[in-house]
Amino acid sequence: MFESLSGKLSGIFGSLRSKGKISASDIDSTTQELRTALLDADVALTVVESFIASVREKSLAALPNLRSSTNQSQEIYNIINQELIEILGGAARRIRYAKNPPTVIMLAGLQGAGKTTLAGKLATFLKSEGNTPLLIAADLQRPNAVTQLSVLAESIKIPVFAPEPGNGVGDPVRVAKDGVAFAKEKLHNIVIIDTAGRLGIDEELMQQAKNIKDAVNPDETLFVVDAMIGQDAVRTAQAFESGVGFDGVVLTKLDGDAKGGAALSIAKVTGKPIMFTSTGEKLSEFDYFYPERMASRILGMGDIQTLAEQAKKAFDGESAKRMEEKFVAGEDFTLEDFLEQLQAMKKMGSMTKLLGMLPGANNAAMKKQIDSLDDKELVRTQAIVQSMTPTERRNPKILNGSRRARIAKGSGRTVTEVNSLVDRFAAAQKMMKQMRAGGMPAGLPAGIPTGFGSALPSNKANPQPKKKSRSGNPAKRAAQEGR
Ligand code: GDP
Repeated sequence: MFESLSGKLSGIFGSLRSKGKISASDIDSTTQELRTALLDADVALTVVESFIASVREKSLAALPNLRSSTNQSQEIYNIINQELIEILGGAARRIRYAKNPPTVIMLAGLQGAGKTTLAGKLATFLKSEGNTPLLIAADLQRPNAVTQLSVLAESIKIPVFAPEPGNGVGDPVRVAKDGVAFAKEKLHNIVIIDTAGRLGIDEELMQQAKNIKDAVNPDETLFVVDAMIGQDAVRTAQAFESGVGFDGVVLTKLDGDAKGGAALSIAKVTGKPIMFTSTGEKLSEFDYFYPERMASRILGMGDIQTLAEQAKKAFDGESAKRMEEKFVAGEDFTLEDFLEQLQAMKKMGSMTKLLGMLPGANNAAMKKQIDSLDDKELVRTQAIVQSMTPTERRNPKILNGSRRARIAKGSGRTVTEVNSLVDRFAAAQKMMKQMRAGGMPAGLPAGIPTGFGSALPSNKANPQPKKKSRSGNPAKRAAQEGR
């Protein structure tokens, strides 16, 4: 997401940082470089011009005070960050619930933008927050749209109102109206209406969406737009805004590698906030839009908050607590624990995506390492561990040649791969023991069991002073540390 833009911006900040003292001409050259980077990324010209003017004006105004600052480039960075958050729509807005339920949410946008997928994601998300959503299948145009929504609804156990077969048959305005009445009767507190889109903006599409909107008077009309369609995203948004009108934007396909800059312009150009983002085909790949986090990512500072939230969701509280207790009590981390962690990690999604949220993920060296990661490695590793017996997982020392051959056969991997996993696991276990003993291990082992260890920054360059060894007994250790 915004990788090439982010890479360029990181480069611009890098050269700014190397300057130490910043002059008016440094501000000029930095804003020029920013301008080129944003235009290259497809950000709309009007948005770029006002952004640059504002950054330049604020930076020059800050210059006299800047001279006394010890970290001048950081102050300029803060100004740019603030302006970027502003472009992205300032403080995030959440769904406005109707005083009298149901809250009506209508989805509009071009065909293929991801409306139907989003209807499922939004419904799942709202249900997890304690709501009782109903989906309404009012896209009666796109072949199979009604079936797609019904199948999706069934899989996520959310009721769907789909009285018409679609594929060109049925009146979408009637379906939308009847659906809202049905929700009222059945006490659903939210309805999500999936409407038809065409491949391009056309009169008929606008009119139909407008008719549905007039008939059901939604509390939120969300314009769903594919971030990968470049400058067309802005044009389509403007056309929908004047033809139908909407309250908020949903950016989909932010996982794509397109320049994506046009998506950055939408909030500013239409004056409507971006409310949600979709970053993949899976139901979980959906979140509120956080302008600060997005700005941080674009500026190459990563998105640690989202990463932490995802980790919290994937590792259930019980398992995290058990691991911590084990660690504190000095018990060995076994292959069984490792399997549990692998499974949780898989729930968090692709490794490449996760590591992409780290600060500096877009600098060339780190990016190369992240790109070389193979998410299937996780699956292969899991297969090997699953082919072991519980006793073997708890005590890998008993893994002799014939056991290893059996595991290799059971998991469809080679004995060499099994050996390598066992060796790397032993190294990781040793590292955990060192950590428990108080000292930071001297760099991560060459590839911790999943094979992504080498992608993590090594702490070799900055060795921690070795502390005195501490007791494995928590009570004793607390006494040693004077707690
Ligand atoms: P609709 O015509 O607007 O209802 O679009 P669909 O919901 O059918 O989505 C069109 C295609 O885009 C489908 O293949 C979806 O799986 C895919 N899609 C939807 N959202 C995303 C996303 O955020 N990322 C990616 N990579 N694909 C998506």
